[in-house]
Amino acid sequence: MTNSTDDKLGRRSFLKGAAKTAAIGATAITGQPSMTNAQQTDSNEQDHDHQAIPSDIALRVKALETVLVEKQMIDPADIDEIVDTYENRVGPRNGAQVVARAWTDPDFKARLLADGTEAIGEMGFLGAQGEHMVVVENTPQVHNLVVCTLCSCYPWPTLGLPPRWYKSAAFRSRAVIDPRGVLKEFKVIIDDSVEVRVWDSTAEMRYLVLPERPDDTENMSEEELAEIVSRDSMIGVAKLSIHGANV
Ligand code: FE
Repeated sequence: MTNSTDDKLGRRSFLKGAAKTAAIGATAITGQPSMTNAQQTDSNEQDHDHQAIPSDIALRVKALETVLVEKQMIDPADIDEIVDTYENRVGPRNGAQVVARAWTDPDFKARLLADGTEAIGEMGFLGAQGEHMVVVENTPQVHNLVVCTLCSCYPWPTLGLPPRWYKSAAFRSRAVIDPRGVLKEFKVIIDDSVEVRVWDSTAEMRYLVLPERPDDTENMSEEELAEIVSRDSMIGVAKLSIHGANV
């Protein structure tokens, strides 16, 4: 369990460090991580430990936050509250519950695929950054992959905050240009006979992949099934087995 107070302090000290680095005129800005590196540095904490010079975006966020606070347009405590909510209280377990219910309740699955917003709303998982949802089903014939080519649109109420690699320029561009190649880097091999569909999220529409139910899970309860549904499988960059993702 992560301590949210530590998280807040960590975030503040990181942003403070970002501003300090900018002030001394740092010239070398690290580029976007490669797909491989992005996957390895999924955790922000991990990344901060090894990134001496903050990214462009961290510097921009700090500058924007500083101006808005100075103009008394925002309260830093409100920002911490929002970050804490989505980092610690909301996460992919909500989406996993949606998937597990769809696997075990055919009527719910039909409603989910017909109107994702309505069905996810039944479970109480709508909200900011997830007001309008579309659920796309993986089948033996079709594999779905979700990206936001413009920025990092992502369904927060069902999946929490997006992983770093999801926001990287490499993933955003290559997921469209070469989806099979990107999936291969995530160790997901898609047979040539399977159609790959790439869905571009926007501020208006967020996507959730309904992964295929793994073999040998007939006797598992809805709660047990939810445990094996990974975040990545609901973005479309992982396949599931009874043992979890890509096993
Ligand atoms: Fe976006």
